Amino acid sequence: MIKNKNIVVWFSCGAASAVAAKLTVEKYGKDNNVMIVNNPVKEEHPDNIRFKNDVSKWIGQEIIEAKNENYPNASIIEIFEKRKYMAGIAGAPCTMLLKKEARYQFEKKHDIDYHVLGFTADEPHRHERFIKGERENTLPVLIDEGMTKGNCFDYLRSEGVKIPYIYKLGFPNANCIGCVKSSSPAYWNLVRKTFPDVFEHRVLQSRKIGAKLVKYKGQRIYLDELPKDAKGGKLKGLECGIFCDAY
Ligand code: SF4
Repeated sequence: MIKNKNIVVWFSCGAASAVAAKLTVEKYGKDNNVMIVNNPVKEEHPDNIRFKNDVSKWIGQEIIEAKNENYPNASIIEIFEKRKYMAGIAGAPCTMLLKKEARYQFEKKHDIDYHVLGFTADEPHRHERFIKGERENTLPVLIDEGMTKGNCFDYLRSEGVKIPYIYKLGFPNANCIGCVKSSSPAYWNLVRKTFPDVFEHRVLQSRKIGAKLVKYKGQRIYLDELPKDAKGGKLKGLECGIFCDAY
């Protein structure tokens, strides 16, 4: 029995963490202080904000914004420019600064007893990885309920909550458009087709910085070297969440 504790749900604007927030408030909200917290990123699709507001109304609770105070614009483009680095073996500076560091700063100001993330029953390895590498005190709310990612979409639909528009375009999560962690040709060609201006911006910035973001035929190449019909690199259905997972 968990009572009189501070529980934080990390809401990523994805379907799974929305359902995790709803179930956490239902299960623990009466006896505990449940906070729902989002680390916003400027380069996400604007419909994510509509979704966040709809989820807040659905749950009947405010969603708190937590930004890295050193990067108040929460912009990946700004970070790439300042760091002269986009992505590589060391990961991506945007996820480190706009998600992880923003979370650490929030943790310092709040006495958190438990964390909840949108880890679903079909991806228990993500939960395992998080409790080993980050926070042991994480409640597997969706996993306990046997909720898969597909179940989360169905649940939102049945409750009349419209999912973020970005999913409808074929993207597997509600991450930033043109997520630099992806090296998949299929992903980048989808970005090129659906958001040509974003693709062009990533081309220019990655050329300037010298970042070869896409992997084609076993080799890292620049985005503008990618053939328009290249497929490969399956689009896996992973949430950005607190890690900004690659896909
Ligand atoms: S979704 Fe991708 S581009 Fe956006 S912050 Fe996360 S790693 Fe960076």
